[in-house]
Amino acid sequence: MNYELFTHSTSSWLDTRHSSLTKKNIFLVNMTKELEHHFSELAQKWLDKYLLKSSDWNHQTSSVAIIVNKKWYSNGLICHKCGHVPQCKKCSVSISYHKIASGETIGLCHICKSQYNLPASCPECHSHDIKEFGIWTQKVAEYIQKEYNLPSMIIESETANSQKKIENLSSIISHLSSAKVFIGTSILTTPPKGIKFDLVIFLNADLGLNIPDYTAAEKNFYFLYDAFTKYDCQNFIVQSFNPDQYSIRSACKLDKSWFYAQDNVFREENHYPPFSDLCVILYKNEIEERMFTKVDTLYKELLYLKDKYDMPGLEIYSTPPLIYKMFGKYRYNIILKWKDLRNFMDITYTKLKMASKGFKIDREAESIV
Ligand SMILES: [Zn+2]
Ligand SMILES: [Zn+2]
Repeated sequence: MNYELFTHSTSSWLDTRHSSLTKKNIFLVNMTKELEHHFSELAQKWLDKYLLKSSDWNHQTSSVAIIVNKKWYSNGLICHKCGHVPQCKKCSVSISYHKIASGETIGLCHICKSQYNLPASCPECHSHDIKEFGIWTQKVAEYIQKEYNLPSMIIESETANSQKKIENLSSIISHLSSAKVFIGTSILTTPPKGIKFDLVIFLNADLGLNIPDYTAAEKNFYFLYDAFTKYDCQNFIVQSFNPDQYSIRSACKLDKSWFYAQDNVFREENHYPPFSDLCVILYKNEIEERMFTKVDTLYKELLYLKDKYDMPGLEIYSTPPLIYKMFGKYRYNIILKWKDLRNFMDITYTKLKMASKGFKIDREAESIV
């Protein structure tokens, strides 16, 4: 079997609004064993159960939510010959492609909103073997249409950015006589009101974990936990490439205290808040060379002052952020970690004239992205 089942009975739900439910089943699917499909065998089986016409009455009443943890760097085009991924000219992210109302596909940078045409061949090697990777709401909707001949309601922050808009959408869909399929990004972790769901699928439960951010595990935990607790639904399928990762497991166990115990160990070992202060200095410049020179100079000056003030435990390192280039500017970080950074930052900020040199300082950084 390629999944684990976590069941929760009524007793563990007494403190929630959904105490009337008798049982919740959370299936955690190991997707490393099913790399070639977007939907696992298990998800497929359950979708068939609720959406196939042959299952007569079920089809009329079923409601299914599919949550796509979309990130702007998680889809795009890739050349299968040379591996080239078309990127935005001004930002170091892949261009993602969307079908617009006219049926035409356009490329869009989710950071600077630059638009691009869909290339017919690879811009690097001219091969025609250039294909989409990743999956997002529109693609899932196309799949549901093709396999089950059903329309879907797409809920994403661009179209449904408030609870009111979602309610409007749900009131439209609630009049449909066919099965109701909602497809959405993280905004769908808050369920549309007044609908009892038969099935909730997380297409990729751990996309948020792949970013260098010490709060990523916590965000990922609540991404799942909130949906588990808020949905009036008995069956959840969680597809993950990291089924042993603690934020995913503790969410499936609905165990907040276990999550925080693990997260504290991680943060303490890696000197992250609340065990250390974290300060992130960001520098941006259109000219890559100039950026490196500036960052390197400041880095050396900080190391010198670290020695001068005798702070052997202070960690200082420079690193590129998750998105190296944005709006045409190259970016680099200097990270400082230490039990108490306040005094050191007060002194160095003035002494090294960081503000006038264009360094942006986040003294209580919550994230290192
Ligand atoms: Zn190519
Ligand atoms: Zn861009």
